[in-house]
Order: sequence, then C-alpha cells, then structure tokens
Amino acid sequence: MKLADLGEFGFIDRIKAGVAAGSGVCLGIGDDCAVLDLPPGHQLVTTTDMLIEEIHFRREWTDMADLGRKSVAVNVSDVAAMGGTPHHLYLSLGFPKTFPLEALDSFIKGFLAACRFYQVTLVGGDTCRSPGPFVISVTVEGSVPAGHFVTRGGARPGDAVYASGTLGDSALALHLLAAGKTPDPFLRDRHVNPQARTRLGAALGQGRIPSAMIDLSDGLLADLGHILECSATGALVEEELLPLSPSFRAALRESPELVRLALAGGEDYELLFTVAPEREKDLPAVARQASLPLSRVGRITEPGAGLVVRAADGSTYRPATGGFNHFRG
Ligand SMILES: [Mg+2]
Repeated sequence: MKLADLGEFGFIDRIKAGVAAGSGVCLGIGDDCAVLDLPPGHQLVTTTDMLIEEIHFRREWTDMADLGRKSVAVNVSDVAAMGGTPHHLYLSLGFPKTFPLEALDSFIKGFLAACRFYQVTLVGGDTCRSPGPFVISVTVEGSVPAGHFVTRGGARPGDAVYASGTLGDSALALHLLAAGKTPDPFLRDRHVNPQARTRLGAALGQGRIPSAMIDLSDGLLADLGHILECSATGALVEEELLPLSPSFRAALRESPELVRLALAGGEDYELLFTVAPEREKDLPAVARQASLPLSRVGRITEPGAGLVVRAADGSTYRPATGGFNHFRG
C-alpha cells in the first residue's frame, strides 16, 4: 500500500490501532482534545522537541524504528531532568507525499515500543505534508509531586557535580560514522538508541536529592554551563573523574584528544546534577535502584570562577563553552 491510498486519516487510524490504554487517559486520540488526569497533589511538567532530517539525523545512518524510539527518549529525558515522571505524548509528523509507508510504519513501531518501555501513552498529534525533510515534533507531559521539581538554578558553591552512566559514547559513534568507520555495537546503540534515565530522574526528584539537574543533550560542558548560568556559580570539572565506557577508553588509548568528546560531545542523555555534600550519602541507594553508576565529575565553585577543567596531567584550562547551537556559526 502507498501513503496516497491510505490518506491522512487512514494513517492516523493505523497509529491509533497500536496505542495501548494508558493510566490517566480519560480521552485519547480521536477527538478535538485529549482529556487527562494528573496524580493527586502533582504538578504538570511539559516539554517539546523537534527532530529534523539533515539537522538531527540522516536517514542513511539511522534505522527508522531506532529514530522512533529516539524521538520518545529525548523528550522523556527532559521530564527526568526535572525530577518528574513522564505520562503522555503528542506526536506531530511532516513528510513528503511520496514517503515510503514502510518507513513510517517502522518509525511508528519504534515510537510505540519506546512508549511501552517508558510507560507513556500517545494521546494526540498531527500529520502534515512536508516539501522535503522528514520532520518530527514530540511533546511530553509528566508530573512531579507539587513543589518537588528540580531546576537548573539551585547549585551552590561546594556542591558536588555528578553524572549518570558513561559520557561521550554517542559522540564517539558519530565521530566514527563521519569518518566512514563502523562503531562497535555498544557505541552504535548509545548513539541511535539512547536510553533516557527516567527511573533515575524520578528517584532523585522524589528524594529531593539534587540541588540542580539537567539532561546531557548538548555535552557535559555546555549543559553544565546552563546550570552555572542559572545558578550563578562556577565549576571545576576533572578529566580524571569522567565516567568512560570500555569502548571509549579503548579509543582514547589510541587518540587521547578524543577526551573532548566526553567533555563536549552531545546526545548522551545521561543526567547531570549537583548535590550538597551532606546529601551525597543518599546516592548509592539511588544508583542501585536505577541500576546506573553515578560518578562525581567535579565541584561547584564560587560565582565568577567560571568553568574550569583540570586535565589528566594536572594542568587547568578554561574551555570554550561550546555545545551545539542551531543559529550560531
Ligand atoms: Mg534538556
């Protein structure tokens, strides 16, 4: 079957058929609006994200089901970064009339598989013809116990800076792909199928453990830079403390300069958070609960100290605060 035979509403029915009933959904796909319940005593947290072909992904490097999964992951990751729990999603798609239906089906299959994985429900969206690139827009709504949301603005001098998981794997995979090389399956998976740390984010938020938190979409230095800006503090990051995977360490032995990918490479979707010294003792239990390593990578310093990195040889430098910026360069 072709997309032209199915039409917009046929395509929407096809998506709807794959959506399971979800908690808090009073009315889902098919009416003018969705009607949803929040858990009592909770606040709504909402975020939206776009993925555009040739800007965020290349179809020749990305399996469509992986892209569907990633579209969910990058959004629920932002809810995790607030210490919240994601519940409901809206998906809007733009694609040319001639777009292969199998590719769309594959995208939706991956998207709905990720919805089941993160226990979130697709409750609405839109489809539209695009003059060229495949455009994906996802909105996610979640909840936090009233007043328990974690912002980027609460870091204080003396707080420890922690990251979950390992850093730089996604950027290393992209670096290898761009050089025409094949990343190993672990690195490839970290790039095309990142896992949002939703259990960790909710556990940290519920325990009111972090003073500030953000998810690592633009790279450690750029995202820490957002925390420093919102918290009006400085920070010292230590290269020696960066949590690195065995695959990343192997690449680093051959090319030591690749450490920049762990510092400035994006799309790890780990959580970066700051913790007051007296709360660090609560982290091992949360790490066990989330089955994730939590590693101290530095410390928050006085306002005006800026962002400083201590290199492996003990020297310090001020990194150019980089990261990806859509409208720069
Ligand atoms: Mg974010």
